[in-house]
Amino acid sequence: MTRAEARRAPQDFDRVLSSMCTDPHPAAREAAQRFLATNPGDPETYPTVTELEREAVGMLGDVVELDDPHGYVAAGGTEANLQAVRAARNLADGDDVNVVAPESAHFSFQKAADVLDVELRLAPTDDDHRADVDAAADLADDDTAVVVGVAGTTEYGRVDPIPALADVAADVDASLHVDAAWGGFVLPFTDHDWNFADAPVDTMTIDPHKVGQAPVPAGGFLARDPETLDALAIATPYLESDTQPTLGGTRSGAGVAGAHAALEALWPAGYRETYERSQANADYLAAELSARGYDVVEPELPLVAADLPDGEFRALRDRGWRISRTASNALRVVCMPHVTREMLDAFLADIDAVA
Ligand SMILES: *Cc1c(COP(=O)(O)O)cnc(C)c1O
Repeated sequence: MTRAEARRAPQDFDRVLSSMCTDPHPAAREAAQRFLATNPGDPETYPTVTELEREAVGMLGDVVELDDPHGYVAAGGTEANLQAVRAARNLADGDDVNVVAPESAHFSFQKAADVLDVELRLAPTDDDHRADVDAAADLADDDTAVVVGVAGTTEYGRVDPIPALADVAADVDASLHVDAAWGGFVLPFTDHDWNFADAPVDTMTIDPHKVGQAPVPAGGFLARDPETLDALAIATPYLESDTQPTLGGTRSGAGVAGAHAALEALWPAGYRETYERSQANADYLAAELSARGYDVVEPELPLVAADLPDGEFRALRDRGWRISRTASNALRVVCMPHVTREMLDAFLADIDAVA
């Protein structure tokens, strides 16, 4: 490769251990390319991609056990979370609404609160990094529009007690939003209570462009009731369709087609196989780090967090490893589909070399 070519080449995934994105499934890559010049934001002009989106939402409904899902393929988890807060705010009675979420909630809720001018109340997490339900109940009141639970936290891969948070929401007549942006494609193969069948969940975020193995941008916003989408609808005077519930106007047909193709290729057997391999990798890495004396947070989902001294962290970055840290400074390794046992062995060998 010449230097000019190298500058135009994206990174490969050989040393990427912290990203929640991954190499897209080949069928998804191909479908995305075919639909590059389409706009699902204009459904009357681009009916084929619009039909693919309808089908993709239907398949996402299967993943989250919701028979008649209402939603769309968003730009990502950030948009889906913002839209969940926006719908809840628009459906709430008062003007002075708040959102109750655990401290572990993704920073996209800070953006949502800022853009939508609602108050974000953060409940502490317990010793195992899960939402403290009593603390959430203390923060919730009559002005709470939505209670948020995270199913697969970004930092520790923890699943909040969703049914208990549903009770908190019901007590103050708020809606319940579950953020499964990352966890949504692994949780179907676990015993956790997290989906629309497990609890009275109103809205959910689930991102095909993470563990779903779709190309970026493909987020998922799902709602149980059509009224939720109605609460987001804006009139669209110069388009043939009447209203638009999405945040974006022109949207990525590539994202929609890629998500559709990935779901079609991988749900459920392919995702199950990926989950089992990734979880085994996470368990392996956790055990290897423990054996070396590092303090490890047990990987409930395929995400490992461990205390690693600053110097070692920097030395590993210098060796080209793409790793990141939690707010409390723990190393975090996300065992995404591209992360293999060989990669982890190479990583462990480098840890031994820099320790
Ligand atoms: C990644 C993530 C998000 C944000 O999604 P984007 O696609 O990056 O906008 C939101 N919530 C959780 C739990 C995530 O892991």
